[in-house]
Amino acid sequence: VYLKRLEIQGFKSFADKTNLEFNPGITLVVGPNGSGKSNIADAIRWVLGEQSVKSLRGGKMEDVIFAGSDKRRPLGMSEVSLTIDNSSGIFPLEFNEVTVTRRLYRSGESDYLINRVPCRLKDVHELFMDTGVGREGFSIIGQGKVDEILSAKPEERRGLLEEAAGIVKYRHRKREAVRKLEDTEASLIRLSDIISELS
Ligand code: ATP
Repeated sequence: VYLKRLEIQGFKSFADKTNLEFNPGITLVVGPNGSGKSNIADAIRWVLGEQSVKSLRGGKMEDVIFAGSDKRRPLGMSEVSLTIDNSSGIFPLEFNEVTVTRRLYRSGESDYLINRVPCRLKDVHELFMDTGVGREGFSIIGQGKVDEILSAKPEERRGLLEEAAGIVKYRHRKREAVRKLEDTEASLIRLSDIISELS
């Protein structure tokens, strides 16, 4: 999977609109401590639908919105867009590029878009499931993560391997199908109760 572009505006320390173009190969980000290098990885994780504020190094989700500085007032919205090359057709979409966007307002309102079309968080998750780019995937390895993987329990490590192998999507769909079956069974029981009351 080739990440082509990351556009950040109002996310953490990135108050101004910032466009990062990634060329094929390896990209290094260098800068002094606290200059915002890790915030770039956080932005990628966030746009992929990360819901854990802890893994985004914040206390509440609102903390991802630029909180102001000596010279600038806080912003009301954070927006991140990640563009991925789709010329190999890794995503089942008829586009050569796929852009995922996430927005969050201080009011708590949030939007997800795929190629500028509003969608649900679920759609973003499903799009990335099994591409190896998932928010739980091994593609973003934060500080301390290597130790964590090495000392992970066998079943946690197996989760990583399963995502890499591409079976997480099916496991997820199976869980959803089982849940729907259970709901339907519960409805059937309720219906037969009503029928026996009526007859
Ligand atoms: P290190 O090398 O120490 O890991 P880094 O370059 O990875 O540093 P980051 O952790 O990415 O730095 O950035 C931290 C900076 O981002 C801090 O200066 C912090 O004040 C700023 N920051 C984080 N959240 C916000 C926010 N919501 N609004 C404004 N600035 C923020």
